[in-house]
Amino acid sequence: MVNVGGEYCEMCGSAIVGKSYTVEIEGGLLKLCERCYRKQGSPPIVERKEVKIEKKVRQKIPSRPKRLSPEELEVTEDYDRIIRESRERLRMDTTELAKRLKVSENVVKRFEAGRLKPTIDQARQLEKVLGVKLLVPTEVGEGVEEEIDTDVTLGDVANIREGKK
Ligand SMILES: [Zn+2]
Repeated sequence: MVNVGGEYCEMCGSAIVGKSYTVEIEGGLLKLCERCYRKQGSPPIVERKEVKIEKKVRQKIPSRPKRLSPEELEVTEDYDRIIRESRERLRMDTTELAKRLKVSENVVKRFEAGRLKPTIDQARQLEKVLGVKLLVPTEVGEGVEEEIDTDVTLGDVANIREGKK
């Protein structure tokens, strides 16, 4: 039997005549002859080259698509003071506040000690529960531009900015 391509089946070791099948078996890639390929129940064929190209393409897609709008907010710097003071004003203890926020009391205590910044979602809840304002618009010019990938043109960016102000 002539083996023109010089390929050998990585399962049975026989020379592969004609088409070889690269498949993923138990996490590894194996090149199989047609017979072994069929024996494996014809799993999906893995093309090594195509897999690499696909990865590259995926990396070009921005991980954070246009989430510039509707609002860019951040938690205000003196959130600790605001949370504690408004909670005390409402005569709520940390246990109660924790319960309302569905977090542990420890988390509330760390908020008030300024050691843990609430997430945007938590700040929203705090605003609701305590009737305070914790979220402020993000300062413009914090390298937000750098996160925008090539599919956003400069024109788009300008439009978003204008719409915001
Ligand atoms: Zn084989």
